[in-house]
Amino acid sequence: MNTPAQSIVLVGTAYSGSTILGMALNSAKNNATYIGELSRSHGLFEKYQLDREPGVCSACQIEQKNCPIYTDNLFQKFGNKTPTEIHKYLIKHLKTKTVIDASKHIAWVRLLAQETPTEKIKVIITVKNPKNYVQSCLDRGTDTAWQAANAWRDTYIDILRTLNRLGIAYYVVRNESYIANTEQTMKGVWNFLHFQPTKYSQEKQVHAIGGNPAARITEVGNRNILETAKRLGQQLFDLNPQKASPLSKQKISYDTQVLFDTPGLNDLANLLGYEVKDIV
Ligand SMILES: [Zn+2]
Repeated sequence: MNTPAQSIVLVGTAYSGSTILGMALNSAKNNATYIGELSRSHGLFEKYQLDREPGVCSACQIEQKNCPIYTDNLFQKFGNKTPTEIHKYLIKHLKTKTVIDASKHIAWVRLLAQETPTEKIKVIITVKNPKNYVQSCLDRGTDTAWQAANAWRDTYIDILRTLNRLGIAYYVVRNESYIANTEQTMKGVWNFLHFQPTKYSQEKQVHAIGGNPAARITEVGNRNILETAKRLGQQLFDLNPQKASPLSKQKISYDTQVLFDTPGLNDLANLLGYEVKDIV
């Protein structure tokens, strides 16, 4: 019963905290390896078209180094393989028992479930409350408020519906809870995964595909992150969102209204564990 999963997949919207959680779950003690956003690696990015940008190892990208693990040679091997075959390949190649895949898309889980027995897959749903998610999108100019609110709702409906339909075990991690009380939140996650609790050292470099480079700030230092953000365009990074220009009162009330005007959004936030104070 307590056999660890072969594949742990993190699903959710952008800015939901999957990189920081994935790195926290990377654990030699539990023989589990965080591989990052596998669907963004070259070959799979082109084949499945689930992502906006391809991804390489962000730890090495920030330091402008060639990654010793996620090499072009490795990515070439992915091309003709299915997600299940790649997970099995990586388990052997990385000498690990479990891969932690933060591809984020529920479509990726559907692909995996075609060939992996569902009891070998565990999913962690990472979520940021809809108000903060809409704010993150507005700060980066990626969506309007109503587009972001609709995307948030549709993403989590599809996630819950698919996981219930396929019978895959899942656990919800709210980004706000993780930040406010990491230890307590991780207790639940370790328990769900049947993992021994381990301490995550932010000083230790974790090689992984894509992800949010801002989650690596203490790992590689602020300077490199800021330089990379500038070089690559900040839009894709959840970098210093608190420093974004403050919205006018009129704009805030408009955006909050959008949340209440989006059918089903508040019920869904409630179902994912949020309270009214988190939304208003
Ligand atoms: Zn690397």
